[in-house]
Amino acid sequence: MKLYNTLSKSIEEFVPNEEGKVKMYTCGPTVYSYAHIGNLRTYIFEDVLQKGLEYLGYDVKRVMNITDVGHLTSDSDSGEDKMEKGAKREGKTVYEIADFYTKAFLKDMDALNIKRPAIISKASDNIDVYIKMISKMLKDGYAYISGGNVYFDISKAKDYYKLSGMTDDKMIVGAREGVEEDDRKRNQGDFALWFTISKFENHIMKWDSPWGVGYPGWHIECSGIASKYLGEYLDIHCGGVDNIFPHHTNEIAQSEAYFGHKWCNYWCHGAHLNDKNGKMSKSKGGILTLTKLNEDGYSPLVYRYFCLNSHYRSQLVLSKDGLDSSKSAFSKLKSRISSIKDEGELDKDKFDLYNNKFKDAFSNDINTSSMLTTLYDVLKDDSLNGKTKLSLVNSFDKVLSLDLTKEDDKEISDDMKKYIEEEIKLRNDAKKNKDFNKADSIRDELLKKGVKLTDTRDGVIYELI
Ligand code: AMP
Ligand code: ZN
Repeated sequence: MKLYNTLSKSIEEFVPNEEGKVKMYTCGPTVYSYAHIGNLRTYIFEDVLQKGLEYLGYDVKRVMNITDVGHLTSDSDSGEDKMEKGAKREGKTVYEIADFYTKAFLKDMDALNIKRPAIISKASDNIDVYIKMISKMLKDGYAYISGGNVYFDISKAKDYYKLSGMTDDKMIVGAREGVEEDDRKRNQGDFALWFTISKFENHIMKWDSPWGVGYPGWHIECSGIASKYLGEYLDIHCGGVDNIFPHHTNEIAQSEAYFGHKWCNYWCHGAHLNDKNGKMSKSKGGILTLTKLNEDGYSPLVYRYFCLNSHYRSQLVLSKDGLDSSKSAFSKLKSRISSIKDEGELDKDKFDLYNNKFKDAFSNDINTSSMLTTLYDVLKDDSLNGKTKLSLVNSFDKVLSLDLTKEDDKEISDDMKKYIEEEIKLRNDAKKNKDFNKADSIRDELLKKGVKLTDTRDGVIYELI
């Protein structure tokens, strides 16, 4: 298995700490609004990574947090808590907001066939873990108290910028958007481990701590939750590229300070989904949710298919054309698969041949488009019988998770099926006789009844719209 590692900025052979087992941590959502489909692109890539590794035989334990406290509107330590902002906007409590958007997020995950991580843990449920870690970092001189808050001293971290490739110069206040000079900090790049209410008096989520009543910083939650459930050594840590700095950079600094050794070996980051205005982002507003996309006629699995066609490390631009062509290709793909008859004996050699190709495509830094190409190659190969084809399709779908052999929800009665097939036959005859008016009118009649015909190289396929 080859994986691009942001830490070394190169493709590396993946070797887990413990043979056959993978400890995987993926940053979860900040639940102050709906996830947008950009966020969901990142979760789809992580899902394929987990399932692909399982397909190769690894036992993967994946942990994810839910950020319900401590993530401020600026990625540095200024601005309002995003959760408080969401609560004010909707006239609800922070707890209600967190609960509502967590449920909405899990529903989106289900609709996209994303496997639930083994552990999903709320930031607010692990305060004792953060207090333990922060206390040790204070004792060991990595952290300090200033103005009532506890900060991590980045000058004490070993090679603080190793993940991001940032430099001290770029950290100068003014060089980063929304970052204000903070005279409580020893170095302007220091980050908060614990806030006391001195800064945010009306903060609703607050807990006792040795440093006063307050709440944790954003970064400590991931180090805390990862260590609680996965121990001292991680194999893979994922997120979107925006997480590289400062979030993952700070996670590394504090975890390595706490454990006293290298923490995670492979850092994998998904590129962004952009819209015509650039990166899709919750804070910019005007976001596109999965529900809205569905209402616009693109089902969650069409969106998954759309994402799988591009490489996770390439930016993906959202366009109507792109979605339309994915929708049509996906529908043709499903229709083609549904026409395969489960006949013959399984051809083990051919199964292995294609299965290995599929595994190789995944093992080549999660090359999802090449995994899809292998699927199409299976469908095109006339030397494969129906049984072998369907076995391969079902097997690949353990990773692709596109419900390739599942009937669509729109049930179609046998009578309707018979009627459509007869009409298609009449239309084919009309075309043969060069009676194109008749052929077109049959197609239009069917369309009025919600049946869309598409001519493909392998004949006519239909879909219910
Ligand atoms: P958040 O809920 O803002 O903490 O983000 C959740 C996940 O989505 C993180 O892993 C982010 O890195 C990722 N993310 C944010 N914006 C985008 C985007 N436009 N495209 C892809 N992933 C994103
Ligand atoms: Zn995180």
